[in-house]
Amino acid sequence: MIGTNKATETLLKVENLKKYFPVKKGLVIQRHVGDVKAVDGVSFEIYPGETLGMVGESGCGKSTLGRTILRLLEPTQGKVIFQGQSLTELSREEMRKIRSQMQMIFQDPLASLNPRMKVRDIIGEPILIHEVLNRVEREKRVSKLLNIVGLSPNHGERYPHEFSGGQRQRLGIARALAVNPKLIICDEPISALDVSLQAQIINLLEDLQAEFNLTYLFIAHDLAMVKHLSNRVAVMYLGKLVELTSSEELYLHPRHPYTIALLSAIPLPYPNQKKGRIILKGDAPSSVNPPSGCRFHTRCPEMQDICKVMDPELIDIGNKHFVACHLHTDEKKKVGNSVTNHQ
Ligand code: SF4
Repeated sequence: MIGTNKATETLLKVENLKKYFPVKKGLVIQRHVGDVKAVDGVSFEIYPGETLGMVGESGCGKSTLGRTILRLLEPTQGKVIFQGQSLTELSREEMRKIRSQMQMIFQDPLASLNPRMKVRDIIGEPILIHEVLNRVEREKRVSKLLNIVGLSPNHGERYPHEFSGGQRQRLGIARALAVNPKLIICDEPISALDVSLQAQIINLLEDLQAEFNLTYLFIAHDLAMVKHLSNRVAVMYLGKLVELTSSEELYLHPRHPYTIALLSAIPLPYPNQKKGRIILKGDAPSSVNPPSGCRFHTRCPEMQDICKVMDPELIDIGNKHFVACHLHTDEKKKVGNSVTNHQ
């Protein structure tokens, strides 16, 4: 487990963040007919040195959430506060300066590395943009970064297509580290890699976190992937958080029916071990017109009448274990926590 040196102060605070994409119809005159509610009122905090895993099916909004936090996409509503500073109120220039402390590693390293640039220039580019070092110092730093991620300084003279998938992801990590960030948003960085390469990249991320006291928001589509890496895990469904707690608590005592179904899909290490897999009905509904009440009610094996009409709030059911499900509203009364304070 990494990132156990969790401090009590907050590095990043996300408050009621929303990102809607307008849906338009009409060939000549385009009418606004609705919105894709990719992120719809998400709140959480990340502490220095920890890894928060963010898990959910494809299309649940987790990658959009990562990009909206960094303002690569402009938020529709809500706040992102980084080290006490509200990012949503910064100008482009102010945002450019602060982005050196917040970097992103992308799922597809080849698509995120300019094929016409040498590796040395790709990794040196963020240093140049943020004017951190002069040319000689920059060259030295690029060579050091290549060493840190397990490559040779000679690799700097090559182009991205000359590398394997795992090596390209190492380049993506080196570029993210170039300007000494505090927070790295890892957007499914190992999903496109073979299993053996996945382990190597996870180990590298762990080592770098310990060495540079990095904080990660680690986005992935299955719980098995984030289990080893995360201190806490948040589960997302159709643009909303449905459960958030420590990694250990989530795997031992999952409460939300969606989390329980996701966990039941993790393969067991021994073939003769048996567990009941929960198969969810159908595909996730569209986020253009999400179901009324609890968004999960159309697929939930525990659905009750109230679930169709009332959207459950994310509440603390004890020990910072947050769940959005009507099955657990009584536990909230027992704990007596605020409805909205779920960090
Ligand atoms: Fe299922 Fe109802 Fe809980 Fe939603 S609120 S997860 S539909 S039991």
